[in-house]
Amino acid sequence: MTNAELLSVGAELLLGETVDTNAAFLGAELATIGLPLRHARMLPDDRSIIRDAFIEARERSTVVLATGGLGPTHDDLTREAIADALAEPLHEDPALLAELEERFRAFGRMPSSNRRQATLIPSAQALPNPIGSAPGWWVESDGVVIAAMPGVPSEMRRMWAEQVRPRLEALFARPPLATRTVKAFGIGESAMAERLGAIIAEPPDGVDVGIYARDDGVHVRFSTLGDASVLDPLANRALAALGEDAYGTDETDLPGAALARLAELGVAELSSWESDTDGALLAVLAATPLRDGITRYLGGVLDLGTPSGPPIGDAVLQVSLLPQDAHGRSRVRVAMSGAVSIPPTELRIHGSGPQRLRRAAFAALDAVRRVSSSGR
Ligand code: AMP
Ligand code: MG
Repeated sequence: MTNAELLSVGAELLLGETVDTNAAFLGAELATIGLPLRHARMLPDDRSIIRDAFIEARERSTVVLATGGLGPTHDDLTREAIADALAEPLHEDPALLAELEERFRAFGRMPSSNRRQATLIPSAQALPNPIGSAPGWWVESDGVVIAAMPGVPSEMRRMWAEQVRPRLEALFARPPLATRTVKAFGIGESAMAERLGAIIAEPPDGVDVGIYARDDGVHVRFSTLGDASVLDPLANRALAALGEDAYGTDETDLPGAALARLAELGVAELSSWESDTDGALLAVLAATPLRDGITRYLGGVLDLGTPSGPPIGDAVLQVSLLPQDAHGRSRVRVAMSGAVSIPPTELRIHGSGPQRLRRAAFAALDAVRRVSSSGR
């Protein structure tokens, strides 16, 4: 089993000043080459903590990625920590130093602190960084790969795409993690788990199942590194168990499902009216790509009073977020008028803060995609 692990280096990550977007990017990328992350850690700029993390990571993982700590300043310690972990001496590499000096020629003399970026250990190869001063390191030792990349997200992504990913693919060529996702709206996570029952309690060998609450409902994801053909029957069973509450799979999104339903019902042009949602419905609809034959979105009205004036287009989707009740629970009132009508309906939604606003918008779209043919 080839395990992949990530060390994100930088005190700013642990202080919450910077969100570890490198981990999100690399986690997604690694799954596409069949090496999903098994561990990810954030580490402060502390040489012995980083060293120990590399030692531990090398004991349990075949691929150890790192980002950050390759800069020129005293708190950039990833090179030193890897050298310590492998008990190898650091040396200045003349070719790397020449490249760095060349890079700085345009700005005058190279600051002496940048010399540290020309250091290597015997088992490290430098990975070129065409858009920054910090080269990466590729280390193969005792059957374990270490790839250290810069922390700056744009530099990391480029080095990943041009240097690290191709090397990993060549060494560990594997099919991508195969996934199928089934999406539902109007039920919570535990209700979904109950409805799915044995489908998730006893999945086939090698299949992982996860249930995730999101603004656009609850998703169940089946994934495997093995034979992908086991996933379709699982997704179909999940769709059957969820019935009307399921609105799609994989790339299908809730706004897309709602617009497709309206198009089926003959609505060509849609507008929206919303109250107390800070324009959440408008934002979601405006961001939804319109496909062939799918309703044109004419824009939305944000209002604090009652809807007034003639509807724009063939149908107007309306949503109002109602005041929270004494228990902090939220409800929305959803309605649609025009060529397709939805009588005013109050629905419960979950969550607080901005999440409530987006969930109100998604509740309205869910009501639309559920409209039966009698809704005309
Ligand atoms: P470093 O190479 O560690 O000096 O990082 C340089 C810059 O990249 C800083 O502005 C960091 O905030 C940013 N950065 C470092 N690590 C990460 C990370 N894991 N995710 C997102 N940004 C990062
Ligand atoms: Mg740093």
